[in-house]
Amino acid sequence: MANVIDVLKCKCPNCKNGKMYNQLGNLLLFRVPKMNTHCNECNFKFEKEPGFFFGAMFVSYALISAEMIANIVLFKLIFDFSYISVAILAITTVILLSTFNLRVSRSIWVYMFYSN
Ligand SMILES: [Zn+2]
Repeated sequence: MANVIDVLKCKCPNCKNGKMYNQLGNLLLFRVPKMNTHCNECNFKFEKEPGFFFGAMFVSYALISAEMIANIVLFKLIFDFSYISVAILAITTVILLSTFNLRVSRSIWVYMFYSN
C-alpha cells in the first residue's frame, strides 16, 4: 500500500528510498523539475513505456481543479471576497504550485501503475 508521504516526497515506489527527481524545480528561477530515468537506489525504471507520463496530465488536471475549488471555498464561502479577487487568488495559487503539481502528478501516476 502506497504511503501518501512517499507519494508527496516523490520517492521511488519500489524501494521507497531513491528519489524520482534530482532537481525539484523553482518557478522563480524558471527551473523545471528534472526527473531521473531510473531509481538511484534500486534501478527501478520510472517511465514504463514511451509516453507513459502523458496520463499524468489528467492527474495534474484533477490536482489543479481541487486547488481551484479549495480557493473558491476558502476565499468566497468563508471570507466572502469579491469574484475578481477570488479568481486572481485561485490563478496565483495554481501558478505558484505549478512545479509541485508537475512533480506530484507524475509521482501519483507512477504509484497508480506500480505493483510489487
Ligand atoms: Zn528505488
